[in-house]
Amino acid sequence: MKKIGLYLHFPFCVQKCRYCDFSSWTGKENLMNAYLSALAKELETDQNSKVKAEVSSIFMGGGTPTLFDGEALAKVLDISIKCFNVETDAEISIECNPGTADIEKLRKLYDSGFNRLSIGLQAWQDHLLDFLGRIHRSGQFEDTVNWAKKSGFLNISADVIYGIPGQTLDDWMETLEAAVSYDIKHLSAYSLKVEEGTVFYQWKKQGRFKEMDDDLERQMYHEGIKFLESRGFLQYEISNFAQPGYESRHNLNYWMNGQYIGCGSGAHSYYNNFRRANIASIEEYIKRIENRESVTAYQEAIDRETEIFETLMLGLRLKAGISKKAFADRFGFVLEERYSMEIERLRKQGLLAEDKDSIYPTAKGFDFQNKIALEFLK
Ligand code: SF4
Repeated sequence: MKKIGLYLHFPFCVQKCRYCDFSSWTGKENLMNAYLSALAKELETDQNSKVKAEVSSIFMGGGTPTLFDGEALAKVLDISIKCFNVETDAEISIECNPGTADIEKLRKLYDSGFNRLSIGLQAWQDHLLDFLGRIHRSGQFEDTVNWAKKSGFLNISADVIYGIPGQTLDDWMETLEAAVSYDIKHLSAYSLKVEEGTVFYQWKKQGRFKEMDDDLERQMYHEGIKFLESRGFLQYEISNFAQPGYESRHNLNYWMNGQYIGCGSGAHSYYNNFRRANIASIEEYIKRIENRESVTAYQEAIDRETEIFETLMLGLRLKAGISKKAFADRFGFVLEERYSMEIERLRKQGLLAEDKDSIYPTAKGFDFQNKIALEFLK
């Protein structure tokens, strides 16, 4: 039976971070109960009960899922397990922002079946957290990790950001040093991007936001990789590092262009060659579910050529690259034969490498993903 991921979206936050363009809102706490009922109803739809696949990972993300109480989140997990065929050893992750979960909540989550916690640290220095518009202090990250471990969580991940204006190389290394000192198993490190619709985007338009110099930003990335590898964290994707065996199963499925179902406002799905996005507005999502109307805002059929291109682009974000056998089994042709010229050109530029089993990006290829994409687009 094929394997899929299940994503559940919780679009509520205490405060909007200045860099955030995710589907999340503040000041809508009055809708939280109605949202939970709507989400449960979406999970229980016939469409989901007909899914013929095994769910190997569940990811509750947001927004800030841990704004809900532990009981409510446990109930949503329970409903998900009843509605889908979930593997007994599925990876079950939840995102948590420091300051939104105490030890009782974390204990409840662990006891109800969550086995992976992804904590948004972002930076260790409080002045950078303030600049980013985060609600927490680094001390609250420390509390959250300690409580999570006491509750039973072993698989803990932290998210961090580099390339923040005003951040020094020392700040960045201190953030990484602090994060790994808590014996976490996984780390996602993203370069700050100014996305449309964010506070930083407004500031940039007004000339109030000075982006970090490219050389320093790249230096942070490369020094970060060196440091993390020296501490036993292997880079398995451009921005993701894990101790062996702790790679995120849910995200690996995305990068292997696997299928997934998303429920909740703004959630995306990719199933049976259709990409679908739910309506982003919380109010509209609740209303449509109550009226038994479709919550799909957008859907697109993915043809074979698009699927091939996406599989290449996503797979070449992974250090292991693309397995030649898995590719041939999926598409019925030999990757290195059809794309021999493209692969050769990229190999000559030092961006791709090849062995008997796979084609994978080099360290330089990680820096120039757009060049790889352009080559295959031709
Ligand atoms: S906590 Fe996360 S989802 Fe919420 S505003 Fe900040 S970055 Fe966005």
